[in-house]
Amino acid sequence: MEISQCRVLVTGGGSGLGAVLARDFAAAGARVHICGRREAPLAAISADHDRISSHILDVTDEAATAALFAAIGPQQIVIANAGIAESAPLHKTDSDMWHRIIAVNLTGCFLTLREGLRALREDRADWGRLIAISSIMGLDGYRYASAYSASKHGVNGMVSATAAELDGSGITANALCPGYLEGEMTDRSVTRITGKTGKSRQEAEAILAATSPAGRLIRPEEVSAEALRLCGPGSGSINGQAISINGEA
Ligand code: NAD
Repeated sequence: MEISQCRVLVTGGGSGLGAVLARDFAAAGARVHICGRREAPLAAISADHDRISSHILDVTDEAATAALFAAIGPQQIVIANAGIAESAPLHKTDSDMWHRIIAVNLTGCFLTLREGLRALREDRADWGRLIAISSIMGLDGYRYASAYSASKHGVNGMVSATAAELDGSGITANALCPGYLEGEMTDRSVTRITGKTGKSRQEAEAILAATSPAGRLIRPEEVSAEALRLCGPGSGSINGQAISINGEA
């Protein structure tokens, strides 16, 4: 299926990677629905693009997620991108932080992909792409990120199991696993590091960049390019993969 014929849902599409995904899929000719909790950033993006429309959705809200798909119909490409990050060593991770992160990153991703797949099944679709935006921390453990890492390992496990169920259906499920991205979420991590260690922003950013074999932050456009590839010609056999996007050679 041509991307230009597709309808695409991007959760958390009001900022960061989600906004880049929305713009890149719209530029490829797709009709894109972005959703998130904050009206203003969503509206600003959809106002600039006639192929992007915006919807309010908290991805942890099961009924609202089902209602959104009922309203917009089946989406050939469903990108579960919404996520949050907070950091603390395990012994300082309180239950509220744990539940917040699991609720958005894991349960939110589950609800988005499940409702997206239900809509495709009801439509008897023989082509579809479910894409979870996971993280390099879904593949490896990083310090001070036990809750976040657990949520993203969970995402990768769910995607792998879903992909096995989808074998031969024409619908695939994959996870993209970027390292630290340029953007607001990493800016907030930099602020946390400077606050806790007294290091400069430059030093803090260098610490995060050094976690990538490339020695730099990853650009959201690199992740978006991989998402487009998963939807492009010859992508039908890529199923159940957790694809690292972290600068490895
Ligand atoms: P971001 O903070 O700019 O974007 C996250 C988006 O998700 C925001 O628009 C936010 O409003 C939305 N969101 C949060 N909770 C939500 C909820 N309950 N319902 C709906 N929307 C909600 O950060 P980003 O870097 O663009 O992150 C996008 C994805 O990439 C996330 O899943 C994140 O875990 C993942 N990721 C980020 C990095 C990084 O370094 N920034 C690295 C690897 C993976």
